[in-house]
Amino acid sequence: ALAPEAAPVRTTCPYCGVGCGVLARPDGQGGASVAGDPQHPANFGRLCSKGSALGETLSLDDRVLHPEIAGRRVAWDEALDAVAEGFRRTIAAHGPDSVAFYLSGQLLTEDYYVANKLAKGFIGTPHVDTNSRLCMSSSVAAHRRAFGSDTVPGCYEDLDEADLLVLVGSNTAWCHPILFRRMLDAREKRGTKIVAIDPRQTQTGEEADLFLGIRPGTDTALFSGLLVHLADHGALDPRYIAEHTAGFEPALERARQIAPSIASTAAATGLTEAEVETFFTLFRTTQRVVTATSQGVNQSAQGTDKANAIINCHLATGRIGQPGMGPFSLTGQPNAMGGREVGGLANMLAAHMHFTPEEVDLVRRFWNAPNIITGEGMKAVALFEAIERGKIKALWVMGTNPAVSMPRADRVRAALQKLDTYVVSEVAADTDTVRARNAIVLPALAWGEKDGTVTNSERRISRQRAFLATPGEAKADWWIMAQVAKRLGHAKAFAWGNAAAVFREHAALSEFENRGTRDFDLGGLADITDAAYDAAAPVQWPLTRKAKAPQSRFFAQGGFFTRDRKARFVAVQKPALAQGTSDALPLRLNTGRVRDHWHTLTRTGKSPRLSAHRAVPFVEIHPDDAGVAGLTDGDLARVRTAHGAAVLEVMVTPGAQAGMLFAPMHWSEANTSDGRVGALAQGAVDPVSGQPELKATPASIAPE
Ligand code: SF4
Repeated sequence: ALAPEAAPVRTTCPYCGVGCGVLARPDGQGGASVAGDPQHPANFGRLCSKGSALGETLSLDDRVLHPEIAGRRVAWDEALDAVAEGFRRTIAAHGPDSVAFYLSGQLLTEDYYVANKLAKGFIGTPHVDTNSRLCMSSSVAAHRRAFGSDTVPGCYEDLDEADLLVLVGSNTAWCHPILFRRMLDAREKRGTKIVAIDPRQTQTGEEADLFLGIRPGTDTALFSGLLVHLADHGALDPRYIAEHTAGFEPALERARQIAPSIASTAAATGLTEAEVETFFTLFRTTQRVVTATSQGVNQSAQGTDKANAIINCHLATGRIGQPGMGPFSLTGQPNAMGGREVGGLANMLAAHMHFTPEEVDLVRRFWNAPNIITGEGMKAVALFEAIERGKIKALWVMGTNPAVSMPRADRVRAALQKLDTYVVSEVAADTDTVRARNAIVLPALAWGEKDGTVTNSERRISRQRAFLATPGEAKADWWIMAQVAKRLGHAKAFAWGNAAAVFREHAALSEFENRGTRDFDLGGLADITDAAYDAAAPVQWPLTRKAKAPQSRFFAQGGFFTRDRKARFVAVQKPALAQGTSDALPLRLNTGRVRDHWHTLTRTGKSPRLSAHRAVPFVEIHPDDAGVAGLTDGDLARVRTAHGAAVLEVMVTPGAQAGMLFAPMHWSEANTSDGRVGALAQGAVDPVSGQPELKATPASIAPE
């Protein structure tokens, strides 16, 4: 007789910020089958192509299974001693701020918390940044400017309950597929209209009711024009503006300077007046509007202003924090939100706190930290420049591949040679970041092996649970860091026995002396038992100690996290791209993702089914530009920018805007020789968020 099937383990997909629930059923031989979790409120049983292929990506081929120093297998003790000794030597010679951490939105919240505590409280370096800098730091900055806190005001139910969904710079159909299906369901059920705003025609644009093929970088003109239009048509909410906001008049005046009319908006954005008018009328006449944004907004040297121009329109109409209304940042990574919560960005301290003297003192006392930092550290682009200049001498990279994904990736890769101590905690043995030079390589547990929590785009915390045996000598990231902390003399502060204990401390910090002035509060979970943590169902924050239920929305009745509890309108800058084109570089390169791959292919590259969707690195080009360059579909072309070159397969499509190229960022030296698109991207950054402009690098293309 067949043995009874094992019960599935409830866990969370490790890819995008939708945060879908997964039921994993191990096969007892190191593999597992996966299905969507019907009880998870993000996906109700659905999975996209990436999520449903998770079972095909579990093999141990290409895994780091043992600690290594410069390619030599060593025991854990030797590796941990080497990390601690490298850091100690560096700190003694150059000071604590010569040490840096580069983290990842793939890490679990517990891992992120420990990294942040170790660096900012005990080593005493502010230089902790993360690949989330490339993903959604402009949204974080815009939230803070407008709301006084990094608060996502709405929830996924708003997507079900909106009558108008405006998708800006987001190929939602490919990059947040399960949310896009919810949007299509809303259209089916209640006739919701979908507007897609993007320089590039995508599947999202094709399925939208209205596609606006905006000129790159002109979003602030479109939403400035919209603010003017709403004001001129009596479509504002004067009560909300008066009671809950400040700064409306200067923001409107600036909007009038940028885009005073439909005609000027059309001229600035490259849209027709009819398109602009249709969109403005839809927005004005529909109360339930969600404006969802993603990398097209964030990955820009004006990303923070773009997001604030959008938030301005929602504040001005009072359409925020109510069912079916609000600005909504769709986070790219599975735990970008958790990273924000623990403070794993260079411009945050911890638990959504920053660097006021009171907050620094509060965190110092809570951690009993001997070396608390007092100000911001360097953000990703500046951090790698500092490595290049020799200012940062020791770097610990965890769960990310900056030698591929950073802008000017060749320079980043070369800069790593300058380090005295280079530590990489990894799952994949052969990445460009591991290959870059001799490193202390530490084997980390992967998805399916590790335990902890992640937070999705709607502030919902879900458990990732282990359902596979530990391979080789791999360890949890939080454990690895705690061992190094002990070697640096901080044993007592890093003495957790499991991930649940780390989570309890994180939750306790979030409520510590929080008198309702901070949005992030998990006090209701600060005493969670190990058993309750193991069994925890997905839950949204905030969840205070006194709350009867979690809070799904914010700000319908104001209550912002500024000193006067009012939101701030922002007078945004006129649209301008960071760098101009030239005769030598007449086009603009936009980088992004494809439907079936994730980041640098270390997981999705293992699935033949996923790899079949787009098998090789490619570049999309408009037929007119292809004609000028003498290229046809399927040719190989060399794309050049001021920073590098890549050889890519040509895909001629009218969906590309004339003058624009699009190339995905996934491929690396580890899986192709010449497709490193990150090497082509410029390093210009948003002055507020530090997020690089990855969507408009001046470029040329020629037959290979
Ligand atoms: Fe995973 Fe995102 Fe797909 Fe959901 S939508 S299954 S979280 S990749």
